[in-house]
Amino acid sequence: MVRPTVLNPLFASITALPGVGPKLEKLYARLLGREGAPRMLDLLFHLPTGAIDRRARPVLREVVPDSVVTVLVTIERHRPPPPGRARAPYLIYASDGTGDLVIAYFNARKDYLERLLPIGARRYVSGTAGLYDGVLQMVHPDRVIEEAQLESLPAIEPVYPLTEGLSANPIRRAIEAALAKLPALPEWQDASFLARSGFVSFGEALRCLHRPAEPADILPSSPAWSRLAYDEFLAGQLALMLVRAHMRRASGRRSAGDGRLRARLIAALPYALTGSQTRAVADIVADLERPERMLRLLQGDVGSGKTVVALLACAAVIEAGRQAALMAPTELLARQHLTTIAPLAEASGIRVAVLTGRERGRERTDTLDRLARGEIDLLVGTHALFQRDVAFHDLALAVVDEQHRFGVHQRLALAQKGRAVDVLVMTATPIPRTLVLTYFGDMDSSELREKPAGRQPVDTRTIALHRLDEVIAAVGRALGEGRRIYWVCPLVDESETTDLAAAQARAHALTEVFGEAVDLVHGRMRGSEKDLAMARFAAGKTQLLVATTVIEVGVDVPEASIMVIEHAERFGLAQLHQLRGRIGRGAARSTCLLLYKAPLGETAKARLSILRETEDGFRIAEEDLRLRGEGDVLGTRQSGLPGFRLARIEAHGALLQAARDDAGLMLARDPELKSERGEALRMLLYLFERDEAVRLLRAG
Ligand code: ADP
Ligand code: MG
Repeated sequence: MVRPTVLNPLFASITALPGVGPKLEKLYARLLGREGAPRMLDLLFHLPTGAIDRRARPVLREVVPDSVVTVLVTIERHRPPPPGRARAPYLIYASDGTGDLVIAYFNARKDYLERLLPIGARRYVSGTAGLYDGVLQMVHPDRVIEEAQLESLPAIEPVYPLTEGLSANPIRRAIEAALAKLPALPEWQDASFLARSGFVSFGEALRCLHRPAEPADILPSSPAWSRLAYDEFLAGQLALMLVRAHMRRASGRRSAGDGRLRARLIAALPYALTGSQTRAVADIVADLERPERMLRLLQGDVGSGKTVVALLACAAVIEAGRQAALMAPTELLARQHLTTIAPLAEASGIRVAVLTGRERGRERTDTLDRLARGEIDLLVGTHALFQRDVAFHDLALAVVDEQHRFGVHQRLALAQKGRAVDVLVMTATPIPRTLVLTYFGDMDSSELREKPAGRQPVDTRTIALHRLDEVIAAVGRALGEGRRIYWVCPLVDESETTDLAAAQARAHALTEVFGEAVDLVHGRMRGSEKDLAMARFAAGKTQLLVATTVIEVGVDVPEASIMVIEHAERFGLAQLHQLRGRIGRGAARSTCLLLYKAPLGETAKARLSILRETEDGFRIAEEDLRLRGEGDVLGTRQSGLPGFRLARIEAHGALLQAARDDAGLMLARDPELKSERGEALRMLLYLFERDEAVRLLRAG
């Protein structure tokens, strides 16, 4: 499969840009959310979240305090901090004949400032001017520009999301440089549709967003952004339809065995399956017995017992002498699945192995060898499962847990590790039917609606944060009774670093009070450290586990019966529901304390009261849809849609149906994408990394 060469500049590594070396590459990888090396395209898809309007050019007398202005001033005098007071600002006095301006710098080098703002010179300075002791002052101007170079100052300056260690200016420069490499591409959209919608070309849209002429140009609702969102939707819909057509064409195999492993598994379970578990297993086995390929969604609330259903499905294909794979979104979850599965597998004679990013060297090679020889029946892991060198002897079933974290792309990659692989997708977030169609295409669905027997309801209460002392006292009493407690730390600003700081501070404070019983687990810890912390907690060696939201999905310690969630108002409804699902799993009566900072807004109030009222995930999903829009139902926060980089459901949702119709029409007319527009659409698929679908066109 060869990518059209015209796209190569966009897929070149950003290290080709001046000033971007291996060290910055790592920071960019983090900024752009890339696992591998970031490419020009990733940079160009890093869209601004705001803009600074530098068009105001008042004379000093007319400056409105606390606004962003660009003023032309003459530099009159420098006043470095007095000796012995290095912390005092370095002041530079300037004027323009109508008034005076003091430019202030903290911790700046004298020689640098003397070069930047020499006495007697005229300079444009741009930044926020405010009144300080009645004098107009600008602290650290954003820009200082020589008089003759005014045109180098962007009138509207885009503001980008940053990451620690990468500041605004280098990011802007890198994006500018990437824009310069943007090739001219053929148009893949219908010309009359573009005209009707007021959309410009793909390249124009990117230029418009990165070099806005008006602040409104960078809004998600702008024609430029909408065009890109439409492109993304169209690529997604085309890919889904191609996959579906392919699945229908490539017939499956009958893969269910005689039931002997399943019988042994069920006998080894310490509990009886619920009615809906039994039904789900029957649905799946019926699919496996049919010659068509299975594409089924298993929806069930947190704790509804999906893992055992998946294991029974795997057992069915293993009975037929084939292999199964179970893929989880995180290392932690993969290990947890393994812990649940291993004893049952042992009891029934299923050979299980694990493969994540952590298995390396001999161990990994050995696992891969056994897998290729068919000596492993079930491979549990993370996305490490579809690395190139992973080869199955005969993969018949791929189970993908927490699907919305993976793209169609990844699901396909796993399904291609075998011949006509059946696919079972598990999700803990009930998804309304309309969304199922959008994200997963035409899938069958099984739902686990009953909770396993013996599950205790969780007593959920809301408490204002200023009563923290009472909460800590109650936690102390519970620890005295030997109970185990999760303490979930606040989302600070959705940046890992600051969230982590909050968790560390809380763990520290709680350790002061409760000593050794307290432990901490967070996303920055190494996988093995995380496992150890979880294991200590599961074994009761620690009793109070302070955690960032890494415990969100799937973690299972039945003895944990209390959860404290700090700043619950900052979490989404689905996320709170997921978190709370970690307790109420054992015999003890469980309590969830939602600590909130008063006063609560209307939506936050509604969210918390829904949680107090119900534990029914399907009901919570509906309320969530009503309160916050589709994006959040799937557990993503405010920003994008799962699997989409640029599209925002609030701004672009209405385009989705049009893209679906367009894709359907196009494929009906040109199923192989061979026409002129078809060829251009292939490029679109590459741009949005749906090129697995292009391969299906060939393989089909
Ligand atoms: P989830 O649907 O969240 O993935 P799990 O599969 O992790 O749920 O199951 C949660 C817990 O419930 C596990 O400890 C599992 O052993 C237990 N469990 C599963 N099915 C039943 C059942 N029918 N009766 C009692 N406990 C069950
Ligand atoms: Mg699970």
